[in-house]
Amino acid sequence: MSDGSHIDDAIDAGRDLQVDWLKTLAGFPSTRGHEAACQAWLAGELSARGLAVETFSIAEAGIDGLAGCSPNDGADYAASIQVVGTHTPKTESGKSLILQGHIDVVPPGPDEDWDHPPFAPRVDGTRMSGRGVNDMKVGVAEMVFAFDAIAAAGFEPAARIHFQTVSEEECTGNGALATLARGYRAEACLIPESLGDKLVRAQLGSVWFRLTVKGRAAHLMDANAAVSAIFVAQDYIAAYQGLADRYNDRATRCEHYAHVPSPIGFSVGKIAGGDWVGSVPARCVMDCRINVLPGQTLQEVRTDIQATAEKVTETLGLSVPDIDWIGFQAEAYVLPPGSEAEATLAQAHEGVFGSQLETFSLTATSDVRQYGLYYDIPALCYGGCGGGSHAANEWTDLDSMIRTTKVIARFIANWCGLNRLSDISDN
Ligand SMILES: [Zn+2]
Repeated sequence: MSDGSHIDDAIDAGRDLQVDWLKTLAGFPSTRGHEAACQAWLAGELSARGLAVETFSIAEAGIDGLAGCSPNDGADYAASIQVVGTHTPKTESGKSLILQGHIDVVPPGPDEDWDHPPFAPRVDGTRMSGRGVNDMKVGVAEMVFAFDAIAAAGFEPAARIHFQTVSEEECTGNGALATLARGYRAEACLIPESLGDKLVRAQLGSVWFRLTVKGRAAHLMDANAAVSAIFVAQDYIAAYQGLADRYNDRATRCEHYAHVPSPIGFSVGKIAGGDWVGSVPARCVMDCRINVLPGQTLQEVRTDIQATAEKVTETLGLSVPDIDWIGFQAEAYVLPPGSEAEATLAQAHEGVFGSQLETFSLTATSDVRQYGLYYDIPALCYGGCGGGSHAANEWTDLDSMIRTTKVIARFIANWCGLNRLSDISDN
């Protein structure tokens, strides 16, 4: 078995390389639809480590009709590339593993809110800032450099590992689903999202919808006959905030969210309306999101969304808005306690931190649901520290990156087992 201290030493010794590697990775502006260059670079990096690399698009994988598939609003799935690098040991004795990270990042927002260009990552002491460094390119660096350190210490994992970098995590989860559709399976999955050194016990679901509010257009001279779609949009927003309040009330009776203040969020992420200053706007289009609690079905939530719109419409005497389901149709997920995978992670965490692994309830979703809910693969979402994800000046803690890399290396050593490379070459 492993000599953990040699692996830790290799991780410490590789720190500068790992920091540079993360900096290069975070330099790719891999927002939705622009992931290909980043994935091509990663395919080369995995291949250089002796992994058998397969790249394929979501379109090639064929995900339509699968459980967990969310509607694609506007992406070209023939160009949405997934990368899987597979390690196959010389002699296999341990348990197989999927290590997954998403490389899609959310748009950086206004440049002027950043202290530096968002895709020119900056290192300042023990912090690196840049769009996507924390969510979650640092996790990709951790899983790759954990593998490097195991090799540098003279070992190879004694079980099959798939290193997977996916797209679409931030809007549908269809990248992770594509790897499953392609046939990649393992006895456990670990997704190292930055989570303050904690393991996700429960995560919320998310439903995205596009509401097209219909007003009545008129010249401003006849403004009394007109109904501004932009003005009445506010009535719809208030009604959905009311729906979120009802869900939050329900959350107070949910074992996983009762202790979390107002876990259910409703938000309008994008809004557009009107086409001429001198006309009363006839349409207002809002892209909205509401969270889903454990135990709620997607159908139930969608029915509530529809009924809420109809009620507002009736009150205002307008025509019913169009509702389109445009992205996440994601159920909540609760990691069943007591799995061997969780115990192995807890042991690895304790080995590095000297304290017990804590679990928590995440007020967002992640890709683990695709593995856990639909493929019966114990799926762990766990990772280190940083801040500002989805905001300006997103940053990740580089000391934390090193600690998490050590946890992942120990997890691999204990879950997959290790072969001594010198023994293999002797054979
Ligand atoms: Zn993420």
